[in-house]
Amino acid sequence: MDNYIALIGLEMHCEISETNTKVFSSAENSYKEDANTNVRPVDMGFPGTLPVVNKEAVRLALMASMILKCTQPEYLYFERKNYYYPDLPKGFQITQETKPAPIGSYGSLTFECHGEEKTVRINNLHLEEDAASSDHSPEGTRINYNRAGVPLLELVTEPDLHSADEAVAFLETMRSIYQYAGISEADSKKGQIRCDVNVSLMEKGKDMKDPKNWGTKIEIKNVNSFGGVRDAINYEIERQLELIEDGKYDEMEQQTRRWDEETGTTKFMRSKVDAIDYKYFVEPNIPKIKLSKAWLDEIKAQIPRLANERKEAYINDYGISEYDATILVKEKAYADFYEETISLGADPKAASNWITTNLLGSLNKLELTMDDITLTPDMLAELIDLISSGKISSKQAKDVFADVLTSGKTPKEVVKEKGMEQMSDAGEIVKIANEVLDENPDVIEQYKKGRTNVVDYLTGQIMKKTKGTANPGLARQTMAEEIEKR
Ligand code: ADP
Ligand code: MG
Repeated sequence: MDNYIALIGLEMHCEISETNTKVFSSAENSYKEDANTNVRPVDMGFPGTLPVVNKEAVRLALMASMILKCTQPEYLYFERKNYYYPDLPKGFQITQETKPAPIGSYGSLTFECHGEEKTVRINNLHLEEDAASSDHSPEGTRINYNRAGVPLLELVTEPDLHSADEAVAFLETMRSIYQYAGISEADSKKGQIRCDVNVSLMEKGKDMKDPKNWGTKIEIKNVNSFGGVRDAINYEIERQLELIEDGKYDEMEQQTRRWDEETGTTKFMRSKVDAIDYKYFVEPNIPKIKLSKAWLDEIKAQIPRLANERKEAYINDYGISEYDATILVKEKAYADFYEETISLGADPKAASNWITTNLLGSLNKLELTMDDITLTPDMLAELIDLISSGKISSKQAKDVFADVLTSGKTPKEVVKEKGMEQMSDAGEIVKIANEVLDENPDVIEQYKKGRTNVVDYLTGQIMKKTKGTANPGLARQTMAEEIEKR
């Protein structure tokens, strides 16, 4: 690898999950329905049906285009990509090729990888419809058309990434953008993200920006997880290095390969000469739509605060450490939970500690996600209040937290149920302190001889009598005062 550098370009497909309906039909954009029940005639390309462009999908796609510093087209238009496959009932996909101009052209994204800033050029971003999903089993393949027509954003980068780590860091950043901007859950477990990965090797020292210097591009299709992207890139770099060593790289043809999750290898699918001609033409059933400057300005003003902005605010406004702030914004669900807890009056540092250590620690240990828990920001704020008002100790709070996490109970309910309420009734503690003193005349003698540390022992006796519910600070102070009176 010493003499070569990897050039990696990604084609990242992400479903837009945050619209009510599909991109050209009134079918719901949802995953809940039974197979093949969420389909409209237009999704199947029935004769006489016409697509209607979903304005919200366009708005979200334009927002992504702006975040990626792309140029937005003057007119929105769509194209037909013609091919036959069972998951594509119409025989064509409505998409956008790069002519005249897709929803985003020539942008860039700066992201962090191992603490270093990297910038990748975005070639284009386009809006298209998803195909149906195929469910393979030993009996055969079942096709579910519910997914046909779900809005999909495809982002194409220039080959500016140089390692598997960089590619994954880029994808993580995009995922965060899609989530924070309210465009998509961007959940690869739900199949919302799929990538094609392009890899070649170039001799070091050559000008990377000049395509003439790039090696032969190998495209790896349909990698469905970030882990898969990492493994596929590392495998492909090794494979190409071996070809170079064997003197066979130059005769290698441009080709499309498939990532095989099971064997962890890429497999030959087709070579460039067999490339499919999709016979693109402008979709005749959708007129070109003028994108007004006023609407574009409106969308720009609607871009929500993204992860970085929120992180800065946590550090500057709440005094949270960079380390913790990074954890809090890692998932939008954490950041939202955090901000809501604070808006309910909880101390920002306490809330941060509870979320970054106890909440995330528990999720990790119990293998749960934010969707699995019953703890709400309200409950966390209540728990923090119970500690700061001295009603329970921090140690007790940990027990309460463990219970509240998934039981559906509120902290106050758990405290009551477990009889945990800390005793902060001063009169009651004075009474108990005197009971303890009455029972320990010899200890009082020791105190009078100068062994003042017996106060600790006597405080311990108060804690014992109250089964640990006495407020420890108050118990100690009361004992110190009461023994003096003897
Ligand atoms: P095609 O016309 O074959 O689809 P594109 O030029 O559209 O190819 O590029 C598709 C993807 O391949 C882009 O992400 C691009 O950055 C990447 N790519 C192009 N050439 C190379 C190369 N030599 N090495 C690695 N990636 C490449
Ligand atoms: Mg292409």
